[in-house]
Amino acid sequence: MDEMSSDKDPQFGYRELLEREKSSLTGQLTEIGYGETGGSRLDYDSNFADSSQVTAEKSETEALVTELKTALTDVNEALLRLENGTYGLCQACGRQIAQPRLEAIPTVKYCIDCASGQKKR
Ligand SMILES: [Zn+2]
Repeated sequence: MDEMSSDKDPQFGYRELLEREKSSLTGQLTEIGYGETGGSRLDYDSNFADSSQVTAEKSETEALVTELKTALTDVNEALLRLENGTYGLCQACGRQIAQPRLEAIPTVKYCIDCASGQKKR
């Protein structure tokens, strides 16, 4: 019952977190009409075009889509960093980001010092 826990890649957990986040985001985007193929605008039937309610819903949806896409981009970038072996390194100072911080925010790009805006000294 001891499933090779010893040679488990320490970054495996992050990959799994990121993959899960990615499919959740992709699923939400698909659900509201934006696939991962991206770029395509919501295609409301022109029959509906005159309703101001549709317009309001549409801009709400677009705000949500923007949010989801930004999050998805972050996830994809984090996955790319996993591939490159630079995952977990601060994009600003190059130091290792603290584990608890990575676990809380797997897509985090900056160590706490850089994120809080300034290094002391
Ligand atoms: Zn840093």
